Amino acid sequence: MADNGYETGRGLSRRRFLKLAGVAAMGAAGAPWLIDPARAQVRTSARVVIAGAGAGGLAMASRLSRLLDGARITIVDSREIHWYQPGFTLIAGGVWAPDRVTTPNSAFMPGGVEWIKADIAEFDPDGNRVVTDQGQTVRYDYLVVATGLELDYGDIEGMERSLIGQHGIGSVYAGPQHAAATWATMQAFVEGGGLGIFGRPPGGIKCAGAPLKMTLLTDYHLREAGRRGRAELIYAAHNDALFGVAPVNERVTEMFGSRGIEPQYSHVLKAVDPGRRTATFDTPDGDATLDYDFLHVVPPMSPPDPVTNSALAWQEGPFSDKGWLEVDQYTMRHRRYPNVFGIGDVNGIPKGKTAASVKAQAPVVAGNLVRVIEDREPTHRYNGYTSCPLVTAVGQAMLVEFDYEGNLIPSFPFLDPLEPSWVPWMMEELMLRPAYDAVLRGRI
Ligand SMILES: Cc1cc2nc3c(=O)[nH]c(=O)nc-3n(C[C@H](O)[C@H](O)[C@H](O)COP(=O)(O)OP(=O)(O)OC[C@H]3O[C@@H](n4cnc5c(N)ncnc54)[C@H](O)[C@@H]3O)c2cc1C
Repeated sequence: MADNGYETGRGLSRRRFLKLAGVAAMGAAGAPWLIDPARAQVRTSARVVIAGAGAGGLAMASRLSRLLDGARITIVDSREIHWYQPGFTLIAGGVWAPDRVTTPNSAFMPGGVEWIKADIAEFDPDGNRVVTDQGQTVRYDYLVVATGLELDYGDIEGMERSLIGQHGIGSVYAGPQHAAATWATMQAFVEGGGLGIFGRPPGGIKCAGAPLKMTLLTDYHLREAGRRGRAELIYAAHNDALFGVAPVNERVTEMFGSRGIEPQYSHVLKAVDPGRRTATFDTPDGDATLDYDFLHVVPPMSPPDPVTNSALAWQEGPFSDKGWLEVDQYTMRHRRYPNVFGIGDVNGIPKGKTAASVKAQAPVVAGNLVRVIEDREPTHRYNGYTSCPLVTAVGQAMLVEFDYEGNLIPSFPFLDPLEPSWVPWMMEELMLRPAYDAVLRGRI
């Protein structure tokens, strides 16, 4: 622990890192997720519809257009601008400008894929068709659902997206401009001090590390400004842990302790009064209302309504409460509609709501879909791989990677996943974006 209160990196020199990163990249050349260019395309006249053109949808369009010969592939999404969402944390942490995360979706759209610029209003898996909000019916033989998830700010009484950047409210999740507004709000808090409140809601959320990153980055900026003593930081955890993977939880708890960040367990944000700057939490002892100076809101998240309202949603079990997509957690194939697959945040599976999960899922979904087209059983399996460079300060991060069972599965043997250092930070800041773009282009 350094005098400034945050951890120093360990002694891996930049030269050694670049050498090892090079080795790692070469290792990836033989990795099973790469598309073998020598592999024969599968000839088919199947109609494949991909719902959503985010990270998962674009990765699937790229892969399938290479693997299939003669298929009619259609992707449906009204969104014209792609957001590189992992960069939002860097914007809200004052490291990146918002324009670094936006790219026209057309830049990722593979040739030969039809793009319908509309949203799907209705999924009709019994009729093998989707209906867009423009009234167009699109029929398919195979469907890949990649709609991501929605941010339900309205589920918190008094809260709405437009409040981000006002009344001491920040939220890194809503978009690049909201992340920038969050940075401005954080800076005002660093200047003025007081009580900063962070936390996360129950249920599946994308990048569960992001709420922790925002807490640690605020602590970092307060220390850098020499104002840590003028602020109190509280983290409202929805249950009895700060993170759902035991060794990571232990490490973060220890880190919070050493930095003086107070966890408050079983606290769920239920209401905000922006004018009075109060936040009310549902706790086992009843409502608790706190006066805040900076409130970082992480909204509850759920699948888009057309998924929830369709027969594709889980009908029972833990993922049915919000209507997540009912896929088999290993094959990514729908459990009741065998011509339907899911990828990304929309899936009702125990883990896997990160772009890194999309990278791991894409070859599984594409490989299994091709096998099903060939009338064979799906054999590719996803192990729950989820990862996130858990930023602990500007210039430092831990590369946390785990599977369904909560086992840590580090990709880089030279990196301690629970030790903050500059190496994962360099990955987050410099290497993740090119790797992400390569996933969307189906290259890795
Ligand atoms: C603040 C933040 C930090 C993050 N940090 C990391 C990180 O460090 N590492 C990491 O790996 N991941 C991170 N992520 C998570 C990562 O960005 C997501 O998990 C990933 O983008 C999921 O891909 P997706 O395709 O499922 O969803 P998205 O990429 O969100 O795409 C969904 C698409 O579906 C479209 N859509 C929605 N409804 C419909 C409809 N009805 N019809 C048609 N189209 C529809 C949307 O317009 C959108 O284009 C972070 C995310 C956030 C917000």
